[in-house]
Amino acid sequence: MTDNISSSDNTEATSSPNTVDKASLSKNTPDMTRRALMGGGMGLAAAGALASGLSASKAQAALPPEVNQVPLTPAGRPIPYAIRPMPEDRRFGYAIVGLGKYALNQILPGFAGCQHSRIEALVSGNAGKAKMVAAEYGVDPRKIYNYDNFDKIANDPKIDAVYIILPNSLHAEFAVRAFKAGKHVMCEKPMATSVADCQRMIAAGKAANKKLMIGYRCHYDPMNRAAVQLIRDNQLGKLGMVTTDNSDVMDPNDPAQQWRLRHALAGGGSMMDIGIYGLNGTRYLLGEEPIEVRATIYSDPNDDRFREVEDRIMWQMRFRSGALAHGASSYSTTTTSRFSVQGDKAVLLMDPATGYYQNLISVQTPGHANQSMMPQFIMPANNQFSAQLDHLAEAVLNNTAVRSPGEEGMQDVRLIMAFYEAARTGRPVNTDWGYVRQGGY
Ligand code: NAD
Repeated sequence: MTDNISSSDNTEATSSPNTVDKASLSKNTPDMTRRALMGGGMGLAAAGALASGLSASKAQAALPPEVNQVPLTPAGRPIPYAIRPMPEDRRFGYAIVGLGKYALNQILPGFAGCQHSRIEALVSGNAGKAKMVAAEYGVDPRKIYNYDNFDKIANDPKIDAVYIILPNSLHAEFAVRAFKAGKHVMCEKPMATSVADCQRMIAAGKAANKKLMIGYRCHYDPMNRAAVQLIRDNQLGKLGMVTTDNSDVMDPNDPAQQWRLRHALAGGGSMMDIGIYGLNGTRYLLGEEPIEVRATIYSDPNDDRFREVEDRIMWQMRFRSGALAHGASSYSTTTTSRFSVQGDKAVLLMDPATGYYQNLISVQTPGHANQSMMPQFIMPANNQFSAQLDHLAEAVLNNTAVRSPGEEGMQDVRLIMAFYEAARTGRPVNTDWGYVRQGGY
């Protein structure tokens, strides 16, 4: 992607008064999608009149005046409000590092929904797999790198950013190498396995003057964003408590799970992998940082899976406002992903809260369960993976801050380390170290 690319570079877009400007390109388009799905508002009005027994001419008269101006023969129309993807060759180019389960099943397919981003290169330790994936996604086979010659990406100006989707303890090394190669970095959660590595990554990004974004996909999920918005709109009243659970049964026969059981690669167990959603979400939903934490860990000593990393953890967080939160994660109980956020007016339930698709939220007030469910149909048009990929592209394009920067990833890693310390010592740990989230919540 060249530096001066913007959506408004599109000649058609700049020459017509009916075109979409850059601002409208970068915002979500739920209304447009809804209209498209409903078949168009004006058509519905006419259909409604007819369905209610009016004759066609009476229905026409009942329509607003501008509808009567719609020609009855084929005619040109102004360009409608629409998603206007950038031409392929001007998009923000990603090199995907690691072709494992998440990369292959979520991130690579997610590019299909992008407006500003494209897959430019692949980095893998398995040449055969990389070649096959390159063929599937139309990536030039000359753009396949491995972990040893990775640094050569510095010579490829079409690679704007690197997306690191490797086991957790490898994130720091590849982020630092990517920054040295002059690229922006998107890095999967957890950001790293130690606070020191997080600091190293942030420093390398600053030295290279490149952006570092953590792949907290829920920050780009319309349902999670709607949840945060309704809290900010004070629909729950004063917030008092949050409860969250995140679990999955760990299958040691799944190759994608094996490194998760090795402390040197994963940095921890269920907390590092899935508990982190509850931690990050709690901070984001409450809109503040914890000042004290406690935790308890239990791993069955007879279960070979948990020789190196924890199975179950329960944690508590106390906030300056008086809000309390408790959460749990587990590798030995079946899938859960949920939040309950309790205010003095209403309770927000999110279940599933952090799934890949079709998260559900509802608001309960006393005596009225499940009052509002968020619409599902906006999801396919703007899924969280595409939105996340495009967010970094837009941030670079417009030189704006990313919503989930390295500092955000480091705060979670630091809090997880505090949970581990609290569980080990059996004592509360002070976490009032003055972290302030850039740009608010
Ligand atoms: P995976 O095991 O399926 O993929 C890891 C990839 O790294 C594989 O291609 C593997 O070959 C490669 N690799 C390179 N060096 C390796 C080594 N020394 N040991 C093991 N593998 C090595 O795992 P995954 O589920 O794709 O997870 C990768 C990263 O993505 C993790 O950081 C994980 O937390 C994150 N992730 C995020 C989400 C999310 O929803 N945001 C979901 C799943 C995974």
